[in-house]
Amino acid sequence: MDEPVLAIVVPCYNEEEVLTETMKQLTGLLADMVREKQVSEKSRILFVDDGSRDDTWKMIYKESIKGEFIRGIKLARNVGHQNALLAGLFAAKKTSDCIVSIDADLQDDIDVIQKFIQKFKEGYEVVYGVRDRRDTDTFFKRTTAEGFYKLMKKMGVNLVYNHADYRLMSRRAVEELERFGEANMFLRGIVPLIGFQSTSIYYDRKERAAGETKYPLKKMLAFALDGITSFSVTPIRMVLLVGCLSFLVSLLFGSYFLSLKFFGHTESGWTSMITSIWLIGGLQLIAIGLVGEYIGKIYKETKGRPKYIIDIDTFNLAVPQPLLG
Ligand code: UDP
Ligand code: MG
Repeated sequence: MDEPVLAIVVPCYNEEEVLTETMKQLTGLLADMVREKQVSEKSRILFVDDGSRDDTWKMIYKESIKGEFIRGIKLARNVGHQNALLAGLFAAKKTSDCIVSIDADLQDDIDVIQKFIQKFKEGYEVVYGVRDRRDTDTFFKRTTAEGFYKLMKKMGVNLVYNHADYRLMSRRAVEELERFGEANMFLRGIVPLIGFQSTSIYYDRKERAAGETKYPLKKMLAFALDGITSFSVTPIRMVLLVGCLSFLVSLLFGSYFLSLKFFGHTESGWTSMITSIWLIGGLQLIAIGLVGEYIGKIYKETKGRPKYIIDIDTFNLAVPQPLLG
Protein backbone atom coordinates (compact mmCIF):
# COMPACT_ATOMS: atom_id res chain seq x y z
CA MET A 1 0.00 0.00 0.00
CA ASP A 2 1.17 3.53 -0.77
CA GLU A 3 1.69 5.93 2.08
CA PRO A 4 -1.63 7.40 3.20
CA VAL A 5 -2.51 11.01 2.42
CA LEU A 6 -2.94 12.82 5.73
CA ALA A 7 -4.79 16.06 6.35
CA ILE A 8 -4.36 17.89 9.65
CA VAL A 9 -7.36 20.13 10.28
CA VAL A 10 -6.92 23.09 12.61
CA PRO A 11 -9.90 25.32 13.48
CA CYS A 12 -8.76 28.84 14.40
CA TYR A 13 -10.60 31.72 15.98
CA ASN A 14 -8.52 34.84 16.67
CA GLU A 15 -5.33 32.85 16.99
CA GLU A 16 -2.80 35.29 15.50
CA GLU A 17 -0.65 35.15 18.63
CA VAL A 18 -0.01 31.43 18.43
CA LEU A 19 -0.44 30.74 14.73
CA THR A 20 3.12 31.34 13.56
CA GLU A 21 4.42 28.82 16.07
CA THR A 22 1.64 26.33 15.27
CA MET A 23 2.36 26.54 11.55
CA LYS A 24 6.06 26.11 12.14
CA GLN A 25 5.69 23.08 14.38
CA LEU A 26 3.05 21.31 12.29
CA THR A 27 4.94 21.94 9.05
CA GLY A 28 8.12 20.60 10.65
CA LEU A 29 6.33 17.49 11.82
CA LEU A 30 4.65 16.83 8.50
CA ALA A 31 7.91 17.35 6.61
CA ASP A 32 9.56 14.76 8.87
CA MET A 33 6.73 12.33 8.39
CA VAL A 34 6.85 12.70 4.62
CA ARG A 35 10.63 12.27 4.63
CA GLU A 36 10.34 9.12 6.69
CA LYS A 37 7.65 7.88 4.33
CA GLN A 38 5.04 7.62 7.07
CA VAL A 39 2.61 9.64 4.99
CA SER A 40 2.33 10.73 1.36
CA GLU A 41 3.86 13.99 0.17
CA LYS A 42 0.35 15.00 -0.86
CA SER A 43 -0.49 15.45 2.84
CA ARG A 44 -1.63 18.90 3.90
CA ILE A 45 -2.31 21.03 6.95
CA LEU A 46 -5.68 22.72 6.61
CA PHE A 47 -6.34 25.77 8.76
CA VAL A 48 -9.99 26.75 9.03
CA ASP A 49 -10.46 30.39 9.91
CA ASP A 50 -13.68 30.56 11.90
CA GLY A 51 -14.54 34.19 11.15
CA SER A 52 -11.64 35.64 13.13
CA ARG A 53 -11.51 39.36 13.67
CA ASP A 54 -7.73 39.58 13.87
CA ASP A 55 -5.06 38.74 11.28
CA THR A 56 -5.56 34.98 11.46
CA TRP A 57 -6.81 34.62 7.88
CA LYS A 58 -4.12 36.90 6.43
CA MET A 59 -1.49 34.69 8.04
CA ILE A 60 -3.08 31.49 6.78
CA TYR A 61 -3.51 32.87 3.28
CA LYS A 62 0.07 34.11 3.07
CA GLU A 63 1.37 30.68 3.95
CA SER A 64 -1.07 28.80 1.75
CA ILE A 65 -0.13 30.54 -1.48
CA LYS A 66 3.46 29.41 -1.04
CA GLY A 67 2.19 26.05 -2.25
CA GLU A 68 3.80 23.99 0.49
CA PHE A 69 1.98 21.98 3.15
CA ILE A 70 -0.31 24.71 4.45
CA ARG A 71 -3.77 25.40 3.02
CA GLY A 72 -6.68 27.43 4.33
CA ILE A 73 -10.41 27.79 4.37
CA LYS A 74 -12.04 31.03 5.41
CA LEU A 75 -15.53 30.70 6.78
CA ALA A 76 -17.89 33.56 6.09
CA ARG A 77 -18.53 34.13 9.79
CA ASN A 78 -17.89 32.67 13.24
CA VAL A 79 -19.80 29.40 13.59
CA GLY A 80 -18.05 27.92 16.63
CA HIS A 81 -15.36 25.32 17.13
CA GLN A 82 -17.43 22.21 16.29
CA ASN A 83 -18.83 23.56 13.03
CA ALA A 84 -15.47 24.98 11.95
CA LEU A 85 -13.99 21.56 12.55
CA LEU A 86 -16.70 19.95 10.43
CA ALA A 87 -16.02 22.40 7.60
CA GLY A 88 -12.40 21.28 7.66
CA LEU A 89 -13.16 17.56 7.91
CA PHE A 90 -15.64 17.57 5.04
CA ALA A 91 -13.39 19.65 2.82
CA ALA A 92 -10.34 17.51 3.53
CA LYS A 93 -11.97 14.11 3.12
CA LYS A 94 -12.22 14.42 -0.65
CA THR A 95 -8.47 14.19 -1.10
CA SER A 96 -7.22 12.48 2.06
CA ASP A 97 -7.10 8.93 3.40
CA CYS A 98 -7.12 10.03 7.02
CA ILE A 99 -7.71 13.28 8.85
CA VAL A 100 -6.39 14.47 12.19
CA SER A 101 -8.16 17.31 13.98
CA ILE A 102 -6.23 19.41 16.48
CA ASP A 103 -6.64 22.78 18.24
CA ALA A 104 -4.55 25.72 17.14
CA ASP A 105 -3.07 26.44 20.57
CA LEU A 106 -0.52 23.58 20.70
CA GLN A 107 -1.95 22.23 23.97
CA ASP A 108 -2.01 18.78 22.48
CA ASP A 109 1.28 17.00 21.89
CA ILE A 110 1.65 17.03 18.10
CA ASP A 111 4.15 14.15 18.04
CA VAL A 112 1.25 11.87 18.92
CA ILE A 113 0.09 12.26 15.30
CA GLN A 114 2.77 9.76 14.31
CA LYS A 115 1.24 7.22 16.69
CA PHE A 116 -2.19 8.01 15.25
CA ILE A 117 -0.86 7.13 11.80
CA GLN A 118 0.62 3.88 13.07
CA LYS A 119 -2.74 2.88 14.47
CA PHE A 120 -4.44 3.90 11.23
CA LYS A 121 -2.07 1.64 9.31
CA GLU A 122 -2.95 -1.17 11.70
CA GLY A 123 -6.51 -0.78 10.51
CA TYR A 124 -8.18 1.48 13.08
CA GLU A 125 -10.67 3.93 11.58
CA VAL A 126 -10.85 6.25 14.59
CA VAL A 127 -8.00 7.02 17.00
CA TYR A 128 -8.80 9.14 20.06
CA GLY A 129 -6.20 11.32 21.73
CA VAL A 130 -6.77 11.06 25.47
CA ARG A 131 -5.22 13.42 27.99
CA ASP A 132 -3.24 11.61 30.59
CA ARG A 133 -2.98 14.49 33.00
CA ARG A 134 -4.70 17.83 33.09
CA ASP A 135 -2.54 19.63 35.66
CA THR A 136 -1.92 22.39 33.17
CA ASP A 137 -5.60 23.27 32.97
CA THR A 138 -6.89 25.52 35.72
CA PHE A 139 -8.40 23.85 38.78
CA PHE A 140 -11.79 25.21 37.77
CA LYS A 141 -11.59 23.87 34.21
CA ARG A 142 -10.43 20.51 35.45
CA THR A 143 -13.18 19.99 38.00
CA THR A 144 -15.96 21.26 35.76
CA ALA A 145 -14.74 19.07 32.90
CA GLU A 146 -14.54 16.06 35.19
CA GLY A 147 -18.04 16.71 36.49
CA PHE A 148 -19.26 16.97 32.92
CA TYR A 149 -17.83 13.62 31.84
CA LYS A 150 -19.30 11.96 34.93
CA LEU A 151 -22.71 13.53 34.37
CA MET A 152 -22.76 12.45 30.73
CA LYS A 153 -21.87 8.92 31.75
CA LYS A 154 -24.69 8.85 34.30
CA MET A 155 -27.08 9.87 31.57
CA GLY A 156 -26.00 7.03 29.38
CA VAL A 157 -23.98 8.98 26.82
CA ASN A 158 -20.94 7.14 25.59
CA LEU A 159 -18.01 9.58 25.71
CA VAL A 160 -14.32 8.73 25.66
CA TYR A 161 -13.13 10.01 29.04
CA ASN A 162 -10.79 13.02 28.83
CA HIS A 163 -10.85 13.01 25.05
CA ALA A 164 -11.45 16.35 23.39
CA ASP A 165 -11.34 16.95 19.68
CA TYR A 166 -7.82 15.65 19.09
CA ARG A 167 -8.35 12.53 16.99
CA LEU A 168 -7.70 10.75 13.73
CA MET A 169 -10.54 9.64 11.51
CA SER A 170 -10.33 7.63 8.32
CA ARG A 171 -11.99 8.97 5.20
CA ARG A 172 -14.67 6.32 5.60
CA ALA A 173 -15.42 7.49 9.15
CA VAL A 174 -15.70 11.11 8.04
CA GLU A 175 -17.99 10.09 5.19
CA GLU A 176 -20.25 8.36 7.68
CA LEU A 177 -20.05 11.38 9.98
CA GLU A 178 -21.41 13.48 7.15
CA ARG A 179 -24.61 11.44 7.18
CA PHE A 180 -25.38 12.63 10.69
CA GLY A 181 -27.39 15.59 9.50
CA GLU A 182 -28.17 17.17 12.86
CA ALA A 183 -27.70 20.90 13.26
CA ASN A 184 -26.04 20.53 16.64
CA MET A 185 -23.01 18.37 16.11
CA PHE A 186 -21.44 17.47 19.44
CA LEU A 187 -18.57 15.54 17.92
CA ARG A 188 -17.31 13.87 21.09
CA GLY A 189 -20.66 12.18 21.41
CA ILE A 190 -21.27 11.48 17.72
CA VAL A 191 -17.93 9.99 16.67
CA PRO A 192 -18.27 7.01 19.06
CA LEU A 193 -21.73 6.44 17.58
CA ILE A 194 -20.20 5.68 14.17
CA GLY A 195 -18.86 2.50 15.69
CA PHE A 196 -15.90 1.55 13.50
CA GLN A 197 -12.78 -0.03 15.03
CA SER A 198 -11.30 2.55 17.35
CA THR A 199 -8.52 2.91 19.90
CA SER A 200 -6.99 5.56 22.16
CA ILE A 201 -3.54 7.08 22.50
CA TYR A 202 -2.55 8.77 25.78
CA TYR A 203 -0.60 12.01 25.97
CA ASP A 204 0.14 14.91 28.30
CA ARG A 205 -1.78 18.09 27.74
CA LYS A 206 0.28 21.26 27.88
CA GLU A 207 -0.58 24.87 28.49
CA ARG A 208 -1.74 27.06 25.67
CA ALA A 209 1.40 28.17 23.76
CA ALA A 210 0.06 31.73 23.43
CA GLY A 211 -3.17 33.69 23.41
CA GLU A 212 -6.22 33.15 25.58
CA THR A 213 -8.83 30.42 25.73
CA LYS A 214 -11.66 30.87 23.24
CA TYR A 215 -13.94 28.95 25.58
CA PRO A 216 -14.95 31.35 28.36
CA LEU A 217 -17.31 30.06 31.04
CA LYS A 218 -20.42 31.10 29.15
CA LYS A 219 -19.43 29.14 26.03
CA MET A 220 -18.34 26.18 28.15
CA LEU A 221 -21.73 26.00 29.85
CA ALA A 222 -23.56 26.32 26.53
CA PHE A 223 -21.35 23.56 25.11
CA ALA A 224 -22.09 21.27 28.07
CA LEU A 225 -25.84 21.92 27.92
CA ASP A 226 -25.79 21.25 24.17
CA GLY A 227 -23.90 18.04 24.73
CA ILE A 228 -26.39 16.86 27.33
CA THR A 229 -29.60 17.80 25.57
CA SER A 230 -28.39 16.58 22.17
CA PHE A 231 -27.74 13.12 23.47
CA SER A 232 -30.06 12.35 26.29
CA VAL A 233 -33.68 12.77 27.28
CA THR A 234 -32.83 11.81 30.88
CA PRO A 235 -33.18 15.43 32.10
CA ILE A 236 -36.77 15.55 30.87
CA ARG A 237 -37.47 12.21 32.50
CA MET A 238 -35.95 13.43 35.73
CA VAL A 239 -38.17 16.48 35.67
CA LEU A 240 -41.19 14.25 35.20
CA LEU A 241 -40.08 12.15 38.14
CA VAL A 242 -39.51 15.16 40.38
CA GLY A 243 -42.90 16.50 39.30
CA CYS A 244 -44.61 13.24 40.28
CA LEU A 245 -42.79 13.20 43.60
CA SER A 246 -43.73 16.74 44.49
CA PHE A 247 -47.33 15.99 43.49
CA LEU A 248 -47.38 13.05 45.90
CA VAL A 249 -45.82 15.14 48.65
CA SER A 250 -48.37 17.89 48.15
CA LEU A 251 -51.20 15.27 48.35
CA LEU A 252 -49.80 14.06 51.66
CA PHE A 253 -49.45 17.57 53.00
CA GLY A 254 -52.89 18.47 51.74
CA SER A 255 -54.58 15.61 53.53
CA TYR A 256 -52.61 16.36 56.67
CA PHE A 257 -53.72 19.98 56.67
CA LEU A 258 -57.32 19.00 55.90
CA SER A 259 -57.38 16.57 58.80
CA LEU A 260 -55.99 19.32 61.02
CA LYS A 261 -58.79 21.62 59.90
CA PHE A 262 -61.54 19.12 60.67
CA PHE A 263 -60.18 17.29 63.70
CA GLY A 264 -57.77 19.74 65.25
CA HIS A 265 -57.41 23.44 64.88
CA THR A 266 -55.70 25.27 62.01
CA GLU A 267 -52.59 27.36 62.34
CA SER A 268 -52.23 30.49 60.31
CA GLY A 269 -50.33 28.26 57.85
CA TRP A 270 -48.50 31.03 56.15
CA THR A 271 -45.06 29.39 56.25
CA SER A 272 -46.05 26.12 54.71
CA MET A 273 -48.11 27.94 52.11
CA ILE A 274 -45.41 30.27 50.98
CA THR A 275 -42.72 27.57 50.89
CA SER A 276 -44.81 25.24 48.82
CA ILE A 277 -45.71 28.00 46.39
CA TRP A 278 -42.06 28.78 45.87
CA LEU A 279 -41.12 25.13 45.65
CA ILE A 280 -43.75 24.23 43.09
CA GLY A 281 -43.18 27.44 41.17
CA GLY A 282 -39.49 26.73 40.96
CA LEU A 283 -39.99 23.17 39.85
CA GLN A 284 -42.40 24.26 37.18
CA LEU A 285 -40.03 26.86 35.83
CA ILE A 286 -37.20 24.32 35.68
CA ALA A 287 -39.46 21.87 33.89
CA ILE A 288 -40.66 24.43 31.38
CA GLY A 289 -37.10 25.60 30.80
CA LEU A 290 -35.91 22.09 30.11
CA VAL A 291 -38.75 21.29 27.77
CA GLY A 292 -38.05 24.61 26.07
CA GLU A 293 -34.44 23.58 25.61
CA TYR A 294 -35.52 20.47 23.72
CA ILE A 295 -38.14 22.29 21.69
CA GLY A 296 -35.52 24.85 20.78
CA LYS A 297 -33.39 21.99 19.51
CA ILE A 298 -36.25 20.64 17.40
CA TYR A 299 -36.85 24.11 16.01
CA LYS A 300 -33.20 24.42 15.02
CA GLU A 301 -33.17 21.00 13.39
CA THR A 302 -36.33 21.58 11.36
CA LYS A 303 -34.88 24.68 9.74
CA GLY A 304 -32.00 22.64 8.36
CA ARG A 305 -29.74 25.62 7.90
CA PRO A 306 -26.16 25.05 6.69
CA LYS A 307 -23.71 24.64 9.54
CA TYR A 308 -21.11 26.85 7.91
CA ILE A 309 -20.54 28.82 4.74
CA ILE A 310 -17.18 28.81 3.01
CA ASP A 311 -15.94 32.17 1.81
CA ILE A 312 -12.47 31.36 0.45
CA ASP A 313 -10.89 27.93 -0.04
CA THR A 314 -7.25 27.35 -0.92
CA PHE A 315 -7.49 23.64 -0.21
CA ASN A 316 -9.69 22.23 -2.92
CA LEU A 317 -9.27 25.04 -5.41
CA ALA A 318 -6.13 24.88 -7.49
CA VAL A 319 -5.92 28.62 -8.01
CA PRO A 320 -5.95 30.64 -4.80
CA GLN A 321 -8.49 33.45 -4.83
CA PRO A 322 -7.49 37.03 -4.15
CA LEU A 323 -6.92 38.04 -0.58
CA LEU A 324 -9.99 39.64 0.87
CA GLY A 325 -10.12 41.77 4.01
N1 UDP B 1 -12.29 27.89 18.10
C1 UDP B 1 -13.00 28.09 16.92
N2 UDP B 1 -14.16 28.83 16.95
C2 UDP B 1 -14.65 29.35 18.13
C3 UDP B 1 -13.93 29.10 19.32
C4 UDP B 1 -12.76 28.36 19.28
O1 UDP B 1 -12.60 27.64 15.85
O2 UDP B 1 -15.70 30.01 18.08
C5 UDP B 1 -11.04 27.09 18.07
C6 UDP B 1 -9.83 27.74 18.72
O3 UDP B 1 -9.17 28.61 17.82
C7 UDP B 1 -8.98 26.55 19.11
C8 UDP B 1 -10.04 25.49 19.40
O4 UDP B 1 -11.25 25.91 18.80
O5 UDP B 1 -8.19 26.10 18.03
C9 UDP B 1 -10.23 25.24 20.88
O6 UDP B 1 -10.37 26.45 21.57
P1 UDP B 1 -9.56 26.79 22.90
O7 UDP B 1 -8.17 26.26 22.83
O8 UDP B 1 -9.68 28.25 23.16
O9 UDP B 1 -10.40 25.98 23.97
P2 UDP B 1 -9.87 25.32 25.34
O10 UDP B 1 -8.67 24.51 24.99
O11 UDP B 1 -9.56 26.46 26.24
O12 UDP B 1 -11.03 24.50 25.77
MG1 MG C 1 -7.06 25.06 24.08
